[in-house]
Amino acid sequence: MNKGKCFLVGAGPGDPGMLTLRGREALERAGVVVYDNLANPELLGFAPAEAELIYAGKKPGDHAMTQGDINRLLVEKTKAGHLVVRLKGGDPFVFGRGAEEAEALAVAGLDFEVVPGVSSALAGPASAGIAVTRRGLNEEVTVFTGHQDPESAEGREFYRRLGARGGTLVMLMGLERLGGIAREMQKGGTSPDLPVAVVRRATMGDQVVVRGVISKIAAIVVKEGLRPPAIVVFGEVAAADHKLPGARPLSGRRIVVTRSRTQASKLAAALRDLGADVYEMPLIKREPPKDLREFAELVQDAHSYEWIVFTSANGVEAFFEIFDKLYNDAREIGGVRFAAVGLATAKSLKQRHYYVDLVAEDFHSDSLAETLRKETDVENVKILVVRPEETSGSLAVNLTKMGAIVDEAIAYRTVPETEDRTRARQRFSEEGADLIVFTSSSTVRNFFALKLPLPPDLKFASIGPVTTKTLAEFKAKPSIEAKTHDINGLVESILLSERS
Ligand code: SAH
Repeated sequence: MNKGKCFLVGAGPGDPGMLTLRGREALERAGVVVYDNLANPELLGFAPAEAELIYAGKKPGDHAMTQGDINRLLVEKTKAGHLVVRLKGGDPFVFGRGAEEAEALAVAGLDFEVVPGVSSALAGPASAGIAVTRRGLNEEVTVFTGHQDPESAEGREFYRRLGARGGTLVMLMGLERLGGIAREMQKGGTSPDLPVAVVRRATMGDQVVVRGVISKIAAIVVKEGLRPPAIVVFGEVAAADHKLPGARPLSGRRIVVTRSRTQASKLAAALRDLGADVYEMPLIKREPPKDLREFAELVQDAHSYEWIVFTSANGVEAFFEIFDKLYNDAREIGGVRFAAVGLATAKSLKQRHYYVDLVAEDFHSDSLAETLRKETDVENVKILVVRPEETSGSLAVNLTKMGAIVDEAIAYRTVPETEDRTRARQRFSEEGADLIVFTSSSTVRNFFALKLPLPPDLKFASIGPVTTKTLAEFKAKPSIEAKTHDINGLVESILLSERS
């Protein structure tokens, strides 16, 4: 039996937070994702790591897929039994040719479902502080496409009719024809003083809003050098006096987060909450250690130690991934006590419902040995140190010097991320960013190894002195260094610097 199904999913206008829950569910189960250039590629992060990602938009110097190609691709992949997500900007049925795709699937007798999206026709005005309806100002909203040529007979007729219509009118596409369109609308009866707002890249960090009256707007758009994608709002509601307040503190800032994908979400979410346009460019990932068997054996014997010291949250993850496979009962860990280097490491243990007996707040794991000695007599005490391959063994050496009996469990290694599934590196090169955030030295090194061209006004943020020092190796000086060296501290410092 063929179980293939295609979801035509509206990706929303750009801000990844505007994808629907249903859309996210479909993405999380996808085997194949076919996405447009207007769909925010950050959303691809919801797809399973093994999903096939197919870009159906234009690449520079490359031909776009034709609508026929896309229809055939959707039919072929669905027929093959995949769960296919067709991710389309805005709403799939608002000037997105979604109907043709749905028809192609229906004709082929395939199962499909439409997941509506937040259209730029409504989100575009809203993100510029324009309410498309206002009691007393208008009683209708018209959404139209500006793809018809205003110099043609049909075009003239079409735009004049719209000009006679009144109410709020929202135009999608056709920015380059705005002059002719505005002229025909005025011939149709629109007052030359009708307020107009143009919103480019609505809901994205680099959103631009330009205002004017209909008789002058085309010249303003040319002067400002505005390019698509943009929506144009015609109507009283677009007047500057009706603009609603509402910008968030980091609105308009494009921030790149460079942690591994599994770690990045908290930082990205906090920055997005503050209004930033965040995109994730993972530069590192966690891989099993070279000797996984040896690590697994140490995990198996974990109960035989008095203390287990974790030096990173990743170490906690790697440890319990194995522990949970080996044992079905958390009590198998026995009476062992836990020590953590850093608050994030401690938090990771707490989230697993383990009490953390000792935390060294200082990031240097050497200080943990001191803290532990103050706490207890370590003479002849059996300690297991869980750490990544790439750090030094100095913690174990120090503990041994103090008389402890120490084993080291090499839990994982941090390697450069080679994939760019969400095309973040390309986006960085083409569109730039305002700020790039580094949370470790390894992300700094891997970033500079990529040799991406740096946007002229790019600023750097660092989580603390160690990362800052590594940045200096590459002649980069962060304009922001977190006061407390964790994610909250970092977000706070970014916010402070934006306010000053
Ligand atoms: N289905 C989409 C529209 C596709 S047509 C939707 O519902 O939003 C493409 C046009 O949509 C663009 O030319 C532009 O006019 C508009 N558009 C899409 N995303 C936009 C955005 N983030 N900001 C401004 N306009 C956008």
